[in-house]
Amino acid sequence: MSKSYDAIIIGAGIMGCCTAFELAKKGLKVVVLDKTRIGEGPTGESSAIIRQHYSNELTARMAQYSLKVFQEFEEQIGEGCGFNATGFVVLVPASDRAGLEANIAVQRGIGINTRMISVEDLRELMPFLDTADMVAAAYEPDSGYVDPYLTVNAYARAARRLGTDVFQNTTVSSILFDAGKVTGVRTVDAVFYAPVVVNCTGAWGAQVAAMVGVTLPIDACRVQVSLLRRPPGHEAPHPVVVDLVHASYFRSDAGGVTVAGLIDPAEAKNIVDPDNYRKQTDFEFVSDLGERLTKRYPALEHSEILEGFASLYAVTPDWHPIMDEIPPASGFFQCSGFSGHGFKLAPAVGVMTVDMIIGTPDPGLDHRAFRLSRFEEGKAIHGSYEFSILG
Ligand SMILES: Cc1cc2nc3c(=O)[nH]c(=O)nc-3n(C[C@H](O)[C@H](O)[C@H](O)COP(=O)(O)OP(=O)(O)OC[C@H]3O[C@@H](n4cnc5c(N)ncnc54)[C@H](O)[C@@H]3O)c2cc1C
Repeated sequence: MSKSYDAIIIGAGIMGCCTAFELAKKGLKVVVLDKTRIGEGPTGESSAIIRQHYSNELTARMAQYSLKVFQEFEEQIGEGCGFNATGFVVLVPASDRAGLEANIAVQRGIGINTRMISVEDLRELMPFLDTADMVAAAYEPDSGYVDPYLTVNAYARAARRLGTDVFQNTTVSSILFDAGKVTGVRTVDAVFYAPVVVNCTGAWGAQVAAMVGVTLPIDACRVQVSLLRRPPGHEAPHPVVVDLVHASYFRSDAGGVTVAGLIDPAEAKNIVDPDNYRKQTDFEFVSDLGERLTKRYPALEHSEILEGFASLYAVTPDWHPIMDEIPPASGFFQCSGFSGHGFKLAPAVGVMTVDMIIGTPDPGLDHRAFRLSRFEEGKAIHGSYEFSILG
């Protein structure tokens, strides 16, 4: 089989599906190819926390743009994404207080609805938290989480309604080039032709780029998630909490469940083969995370521990993605390496990727900050926290 398109997207995670939808909106005939199924990789396993708290303006703007899309999802995409605006709080130790205040000023400066709150305010919001050690907190009332699987499938269906083809269980095995320009991709039993190919393969991003000799600094890192059923009396949903004191996060889910994980930069050291890693959680992780959580939310000691899982972050040296045309002027575009915090940015990424391919970058949402050469130019994007995942 062979077929021609305007653009081929490799990867049907959230980035591939958002990009397909945005390209199709511009009238392009698009095909999305995934070696598994839509959202079956890290996207479907994402904690999908939607917050705007970033310490640099570009990602804060991307999160702000994207939140609006999640809020208006049915209207814009045509069906629900399971958005729950539970609110979001970030708790910081003394060493991060000044940084937190500065970040809140940046976020408020671009119109994000966020504010510093006192320990008393926090106790009112979440009376079950232990706040004895806590120095400062900020609160975003509009943030929360979405259902990642629902969201990615909604984007895929919306793209299909605009004429996009999505082929699942279809592994791209090589990228076709002629005279320095991309011409298509080959799978086991087919060839797809297009003058534009977009690499949206997340933790496989370096593997796919290597098919044409391009080296991308993206590591597939194993990360773990625990699920707990909160004890009686704690069934009501709680705000999302990112706790910098105990380097952990937790958010509620349907059925009185809490989804939790670490924000420890050490996770970037767990480099694995993305096609062969242990999917079950480790006992040490579950007990370490449990200790951190119960220090902050003591009643969780009486939770029922449900089965967790391990998944992958696609980590770059500065924990920000690579969005670039590489090789230059080749038609082969990179859009991978979202380093554990990409879900909330995806609606903006879709628009920025279209600008990268056929448009002009919006000054507020300019993908060029994510060019590959930033690392050798000394222009890597550094946030103000020691926890890179917070940006
Ligand atoms: C446990 C966990 C928790 C997270 N929590 C949050 C959060 O709370 N908030 C947030 O904003 N972000 C979060 N993230 C990050 C976010 O989920 C990711 O940044 C995002 O889902 C990455 O999407 P993607 O489309 O780039 O990649 P992926 O979802 O990895 O999709 C890549 C796709 O490419 C396909 N593929 C690979 N190679 C090939 C090939 N050769 N041919 C065809 N297809 C191929 C794969 O099968 C896969 O489906 C979390 C991530 C994880 C793992």
